[in-house]
Amino acid sequence: MSTYESRLKGCEQVADGTFAFHFEKPAGFHFKPGQAVDLVLPDPAPASAHYAARHTFSLVSAPFQDELVIATRMRDSPFKRVLKSLSVAAIVRLEGPFGSLTLHGDRARPAVLIAGGIGVTPFVSMLRQAAREQLPQRILLLYANRRPEDAAFLAELTQLEQRYKYFHLIATMTQVVKSASPWDGSTGQIDENMVRRACSEYAAPVYYVAGPPGMVESMRNVLSDLGVNDDAIRSEEFFGY
Ligand SMILES: Cc1cc2nc3c(=O)[nH]c(=O)nc-3n(C[C@H](O)[C@H](O)[C@H](O)COP(=O)(O)OP(=O)(O)OC[C@H]3O[C@@H](n4cnc5c(N)ncnc54)[C@H](O)[C@@H]3O)c2cc1C
Repeated sequence: MSTYESRLKGCEQVADGTFAFHFEKPAGFHFKPGQAVDLVLPDPAPASAHYAARHTFSLVSAPFQDELVIATRMRDSPFKRVLKSLSVAAIVRLEGPFGSLTLHGDRARPAVLIAGGIGVTPFVSMLRQAAREQLPQRILLLYANRRPEDAAFLAELTQLEQRYKYFHLIATMTQVVKSASPWDGSTGQIDENMVRRACSEYAAPVYYVAGPPGMVESMRNVLSDLGVNDDAIRSEEFFGY
């Protein structure tokens, strides 16, 4: 694994309590959509006993873009406090890229991406790159959030569906009653029924799952109950967000 120095270019809010951080792309940094990096922050002063300076993030930017972007919910942890306090041009270390949650090469075989919350990040990277290349591969994204306000990159994904004919998006909200925004799309958790209905016209897809650990586990069970072979399910566990 390689180590790179990079500078923070800026950050922006992409959903309620959720920020994207933009970094310069170091020379020679190459990655595949869906891969992740370890972000290593400068040590805070004074050093805190519970502060781990390193955290893994999927890259939300796509390889064709000239910057590296990560996105995360800004929960109150020492790491996130330091991340949020970084000034523009602060120097960080990036280690990677790594991870095998990357789109399979057989374009005739569809991909079904199942995302919970900010776990959507690796899929945004895949979809940006696939749309850019107009990849002739059917891709379905099932994307669950509590409320529309929590759904990072939803507007971009909706637009992407318009200009990339192989891509279909199903966004669902699980706590829409707590939302101040109107929502006339799908509601309720992604469960066996939703997966069966949504995937009925996709022949032998490869499934990719990213989200809270409980959701990843429950989706693996749902897919297994639907008779999907383990070889056709890809996910990675990111704990501690
Ligand atoms: C491959 C991968 C990449 C990731 N990349 C990142 C990253 O780049 N940045 C980052 O911050 N985090 C990342 N994560 C971590 C991740 O998604 C966190 O666990 C997430 O932050 C959880 O909080 P949330 O607020 O987004 O989800 P929540 O709002 O808690 O949940 C999102 C949705 O999932 C649904 N859900 C929850 N549990 C279940 C269940 N058992 N069955 C069905 N639906 C359920 C909820 O109802 C909700 O609609 C990644 C995880 C994986 C596996």
